[in-house]
Amino acid sequence: MSNVKRLYEIIIVGGGPAALTAAIYTSRANLSTLLFEGEQSYGDAKTEALVVGGQLMTTTEVENFSGFPKGGISGPDLVMNMAEQAKEFGAKIVGETVLAIDHEILCVGPRKYAEHFMVKTRKGLYTSRSLILATGATAKYIGLKSEKVYMNRGVSACATCDGALPRFRNKALVVVGGGDTAMEEATFLSRFANRVFIVHRRDTFRASRIMSDRVLKNEKITVLWNSVVTDLKGNEEEGLQSVCVKNIKDDSIKELECAGYFCAIGHKPNSDLVKHLVPIDENGYIIPSKPGSCQTKIDGLFVCGDVCDKVYRQAITAAASGCMAAIDATRWIEQQNSNAETNFQK
Ligand code: NAP
Repeated sequence: MSNVKRLYEIIIVGGGPAALTAAIYTSRANLSTLLFEGEQSYGDAKTEALVVGGQLMTTTEVENFSGFPKGGISGPDLVMNMAEQAKEFGAKIVGETVLAIDHEILCVGPRKYAEHFMVKTRKGLYTSRSLILATGATAKYIGLKSEKVYMNRGVSACATCDGALPRFRNKALVVVGGGDTAMEEATFLSRFANRVFIVHRRDTFRASRIMSDRVLKNEKITVLWNSVVTDLKGNEEEGLQSVCVKNIKDDSIKELECAGYFCAIGHKPNSDLVKHLVPIDENGYIIPSKPGSCQTKIDGLFVCGDVCDKVYRQAITAAASGCMAAIDATRWIEQQNSNAETNFQK
């Protein structure tokens, strides 16, 4: 155990807006804060490892984070500003990938006298009194090589983030998927695009009735049933130009001219690190102990951001939940301190 480092009051795992906002709040509250942001692997949408800066690193302009008029701010700049702000208040940010998290309770007979979290990285073992998990979610892509080639140059997994960009306005756009996300993305995009094609691999949607009906009634949206995307085409200067779609019933292939390809086949929440500690739902999202709260069933373990949010998934909602988790964690530590003082006086 020679590589065990000092006991921090809070360890935060995550490198996106939820984690960094939490770090701003906890370090400003004068709690010793260590944040693991993962290792540099910018822009790899397929990676399962925590990516520095989270999904914002693969977003070009963020125009809907309040406070940035006149064209918004780039995703990487927003993340770097948040990290700088957290460091100004004393948070320590390190670029190590967390390999495992555990919770240890120390007892004397039946009496609990101490508990802490243990965080293992390749470089060592770190301990803390409380832990905030903000590891985000990774958008799923079909797995075509060309998705990577045109990433951020026509390819996106977030219509709310990117759909209003000039390159997509009054153009034809393609959305892949048949769930609620695909319906939401297609409906949103139809406000800016001149035509939206939904490519779905079956002949019925998985999405809720209300959201499917909205899509089917939208005159700007055409659904290509029983169809899959087989390739994306484009060029160096202009990025994505067309999408090849195969009908799986008759094997016919057509090439749709389009400026955007929005993959909406779901997200994988990065919850593996704590799945032995807290309940997760059938899609991998962490279930807090009370709906709408950041607390989990383990005392001192808080969650925030996309790892527990399948509805909003915005940078600003992630940041807001990071603030909530930090306030909850701060109050929990204060309560622990005050309990310890009362016990000492008895
Ligand atoms: P989802 O419900 O899992 O749907 C994913 C869709 O993508 C399915 O239609 C699936 O096809 C298709 N798909 C999966 N892998 C594919 C592949 N490799 N190639 C082609 N198509 C593929 O995911 P989601 O739409 O992101 O929703 C996730 C959860 O969030 C759901 O519980 C949803 O209700 C919720 N959500 C709620 C809201 C809201 O309430 N406003 C908005 C968004 C999401 P099949 O149908 O053939 O499997």
